[in-house]
Amino acid sequence: MKPLLIRDGQLFDPGQGINESWSLFIKDGLISWLGKTRMMPPQLDCDVISARGLVVTPGFIDLHCHLREPGFEEKETIATGSQAAAKGGFTTVCCMPNTLPPLDNRETIEFVQAKAAEEAVLRVLPVGCITRGRKGEELVDMVELASAGVVGFSDDGDTVSNPALMRQALELSRKLGLPVIDHCEDKALSKDGVVNEGTMATQLGLAGIPPAAEENIVARDLELARLTEGRVHIAHVSTSCSVELIRHAKEEGVAVTTEVTPHHLLLTEEEVVNHSTGAKVNPPLRTIRDVEALIEALNDGTIDVIATDHAPHTVAEKALPVAEAPFGISGFETAFGSLMGLVYAEKVSIETLITRLTTAPASILGEKFGKLGTLAFGAVADLVIFDPSKEWVVDPDTFASKGRNTPLTGRTLKGKVVATISRGQLVNKDDSLDLNRPQEELRGRW
Ligand SMILES: [Zn+2]
Repeated sequence: MKPLLIRDGQLFDPGQGINESWSLFIKDGLISWLGKTRMMPPQLDCDVISARGLVVTPGFIDLHCHLREPGFEEKETIATGSQAAAKGGFTTVCCMPNTLPPLDNRETIEFVQAKAAEEAVLRVLPVGCITRGRKGEELVDMVELASAGVVGFSDDGDTVSNPALMRQALELSRKLGLPVIDHCEDKALSKDGVVNEGTMATQLGLAGIPPAAEENIVARDLELARLTEGRVHIAHVSTSCSVELIRHAKEEGVAVTTEVTPHHLLLTEEEVVNHSTGAKVNPPLRTIRDVEALIEALNDGTIDVIATDHAPHTVAEKALPVAEAPFGISGFETAFGSLMGLVYAEKVSIETLITRLTTAPASILGEKFGKLGTLAFGAVADLVIFDPSKEWVVDPDTFASKGRNTPLTGRTLKGKVVATISRGQLVNKDDSLDLNRPQEELRGRW
C-alpha cells in the first residue's frame, strides 16, 4: 500500500479539539503524522491529495444499516452496500441481522464477516439477533454471538414483545458489555399502519401508526434497563415524547443511548404526499413538532448519534401502492449532504454534526474493534474528505447502492463527500478531486 499525503486540508476532529489547516500523512494504514504543512517531514514516494478548501474529518460510523446479504441480494449486497457507504463518507457500518437466514448463530455471523473481508471496501460489523429467528420466543446464545464478534443485539424490524424476554436480554447485555439495539414498535398499536397517524393519514386514506406505538416500548424498555442496569440503545427515535422519556431516563442515570436518522431530522409526514412510497419508512416520518424536538435533543446530547437506517429495496417493490410497498430509504449516499442542510440553516453546528457521526458512535462501540472515530496519531486511517460548499443534485441513478428508493430525488444538497479513506486506502473519490494534482481553487468555508 502506497503512503498517502493529504495536504493543506482543514483537519477537523471535535473529539480531540483539532480544527487546523494542516496536512496528514498515512503509512501502513495508520495516521503516521499530522501537523502544519511547513513542519512536514520530507515524503518521497507517496500519493498526494491536495485538500485545500476541503475538510478532513474521521470517517463516519453508522450504527444502523441494512446490507440485505444473505438472502435479499436483489436489494443490496455487502459489496454494493459498502461502496454506497464509502460514497457517503462512512468507514464503519453496523449491519442489522434481519437477513435470510437471520444472523442468530455463529455461522451466519462468520458468513457476513468473511464476505465483508473479501468484498467490502470498509469495516462491516454485524449486529446479532436478540431472539432465534427473530421470532421473539427464545433468546439467541448471546455469549456465543458476543465471542463471534457482534457489536450488539437487535431484532430490528420487530420489537421483542415479551417483556420478560427483553429483561433477560438486557441482563445479559450488561454482563457482555454490549448494547441491545431496540426497535420500539408496539405491533398491537401500529398494526398495518403505513404513515404517521393523524389528519394527513386520514386525508390520504392510509392507515396510521400512532406515536404511542413507539413511546409505549421506549417507556417499557427504559424501565427494564433501569431494573437490569443493562445497556439499551434506542434505534431510530422519531417522536417528541420518546425524546422526553429518554432525556428523563438519562438524567436518572439509566444506561441508555439513542440514535436518530437523517430523514427523521429533516422530513415530515408531508413528504408522503409528494414522494409516496419513497417517503414510507418505519418508524414513519412525523410532524414538524417532532422534527424540532429531535433537533433539540441532538443538540443537547439526549440523542447520541445519527445513524442512517439505510434500507434499500428494489424499484419494483417500491412501485407498489403505498399500503403494500416495503418501508425504508436508501440513505448512505444522501446522509451527509442532507444533514449539512441543518448546518446551513443554523439549527445544528458543524461540530455537533461531526461528533454525532464520529466520536459519539465510536464511544458506543468502545475500543473492541479498534480506535475509531479519531484523527489521533497512530489511529487507523479512516477518514472522510468533504467539500462543505459543493452543491449537487440527488440522482438515484448514480447511486452505488442497488436501492434507488429515496424521497430526495431531484433535490439540490449543499455539502458533498469527495473522498473516503478506509484503513489507509482511498476507497471512494469524487471526479472533482485529482489525486496527485493540487486543487488550485480555494473554496469557501461553511
Ligand atoms: Zn428498526
